[in-house]
Amino acid sequence: MITQSKLCRIGVMGGTFDPIHYGHLVTAEVVRGEFDIDLVLFVPSGLPPHKDPRLVSPKEHRYLMTVFATLTNPYFEVSRVDIDREGETYTIDTLRDLRKLYGDEVELYFITGADAIAEICEWKDAAELVKLAEFVAATRPGYQFDQRIPEWFEQQGSQLHLLQVPAMAISSTDIRRRVEEQKSIRYFVPEAVEHYIRKNCLYMPKHTHTNDAGSEVFRCR
Ligand code: ATP
Ligand code: MG
Repeated sequence: MITQSKLCRIGVMGGTFDPIHYGHLVTAEVVRGEFDIDLVLFVPSGLPPHKDPRLVSPKEHRYLMTVFATLTNPYFEVSRVDIDREGETYTIDTLRDLRKLYGDEVELYFITGADAIAEICEWKDAAELVKLAEFVAATRPGYQFDQRIPEWFEQQGSQLHLLQVPAMAISSTDIRRRVEEQKSIRYFVPEAVEHYIRKNCLYMPKHTHTNDAGSEVFRCR
């Protein structure tokens, strides 16, 4: 167990994690090594504002899959700050909450993929957000990086760190589709996550469940 008082650099990996996969884990591990990060916090979102809530799995499932996936890495932990907060999840609130929890002396490194960072200027309180943490954008296969984004960071008096991560064209969308089509997801996600998905019938065709928005979800494409 890593004690809070000794931490200097904390990586923050936000995401829906529906489900978490090796693309997330490899990215977090590479960034941890490159930036000498003491602890990476995976922060599953409560209600992602940019996704249709009827199509997002219940947060406790996403939280538990993230816990199982990160269990074997002593530098990885999972935070409940976003899933325990009411309402839609905004990164500005995530970073403010983590700052309160860990204090002013720690350095926060917010880790994103190239696709997510491309939308940052549209995020809530973006200009203030970039002052609360260092931002690291990892390459993601299939996404062309827009050079205007580092420029936007500079205009805010901040800097975006770009990092090449060994290519992994895995996405949660593809994994959900594969489960629905009854294809294998072995080696896409940690074994425990695969078992969790099967056991709870997540992403299965004609499977219904009640989501966080209170509506019954019927997954079909
Ligand atoms: P979905 O397809 O449902 O959007 P996703 O695979 O994009 O899922 P998210 O939970 O949306 O996963 O992503 C969380 C963060 O991880 C984002 O910053 C995203 O850019 C990053 N990320 C996801 N997959 C990869 C990958 N294969 N390589 C690098 N970064 C990734
Ligand atoms: Mg995504």
